[in-house]
Amino acid sequence: MDKAIIEVKNLRKSFGALEVLKDVSLSVARSEVVAVIGPSGSGKSTMLRSLAHLEEVNGGTIRIGEDHLVLDGKYPGAAKIKEITSRMGMVFQHFNLFPHLTVRGNLELAPRLTKRLPAADIARKAEELLAKVGLQDKGDAYPANLSGGQKQRVAIARALMMSPEILLFDEPTSALDPELTGEVLEVMRQLAGERMTMVVVTHEMGFAREVADRVMFMADGEFIESGTPDELFGNPRQERTKVFLNRVL
Ligand code: ADP
Ligand code: MG
Repeated sequence: MDKAIIEVKNLRKSFGALEVLKDVSLSVARSEVVAVIGPSGSGKSTMLRSLAHLEEVNGGTIRIGEDHLVLDGKYPGAAKIKEITSRMGMVFQHFNLFPHLTVRGNLELAPRLTKRLPAADIARKAEELLAKVGLQDKGDAYPANLSGGQKQRVAIARALMMSPEILLFDEPTSALDPELTGEVLEVMRQLAGERMTMVVVTHEMGFAREVADRVMFMADGEFIESGTPDELFGNPRQERTKVFLNRVL
C-alpha cells in the first residue's frame, strides 16, 4: 500500500476536565473512503474537527501528505497550518452556508479571498461544480430558498472549489428529512467513484456498507474496531460494536 495520505497517531484532546479523545490513531490511504460510526458523544466530530484544525489537540500527531499538522502535540506556524488545511475540505451537518450570499457567492468566496485563480476561472469552476451537484440553475438563489438536500449539495460544491485532496464529512445527512438524504449520498457516491479521499462520520449504515472501503467504530474517545464493511457489519468482534450495531441496524 502507498504511504497513507492521512496518518493520525495517539491523538488526545480534552475540553477542561473532559477527556474526549483518549488515544485516537487512524491511517487513510489516498482515494480511500473511511466511514466513522459510533454513539453520540464518542468524539467523532472532535476527531474530524482536529483533522481540519478547527480544534487544537493536546497531544499526538497528524500527518497530512508530507506535512505534519501537529507532531507530538506541537503545531507549526500559522502559514504552514493554513497551507496544510487548505488541502482539506469539510462538510458539516448544518451546512454552514453564508446566508447573505447567493449560492454562487458561497462557492466563490474562499477562492476569491485566497486569489489563487483569476475571477473568470473561479466563476467557470463554480458553474462546473454546480452542474456536478445538479444545481446549475440555482447559482442566483439564496440558501434560505433551498431545501436541506440542495443546501448540502451547495456545501459540497463549495468545499470542492478549493480542489481539496481530502474531504471530511461530519454527519452530512443527519439534519435532512429522510427523502432528501438520497440526493446528497448520491453526490458523495459519485465523489468516491472519482477516487476522492474521504472520511465520513455517518449514521447512514447503508451508505457506509455500500461506499466505504473501511468502517471504523469509535466509542469513548477511541477507535474500538475497524474493518471492511462486510467484516464490521457482518462479523463484529468487540462487544461494544455488537451492542451499537444491534441498536442502529
Ligand atoms: P460525537 O461527534 O461523537 O457525537 P463530539 O466530538 O461532538 O462527539 O463530542 C464528544 C464529547 O465532547 C461530548 O461529551 C461533547 O459534549 C464534548 N464536547 C464537544 N465539543 C466541546 C466543546 N467545544 N466544549 C466542551 N465540550 C465539548
Ligand atoms: Mg458529532
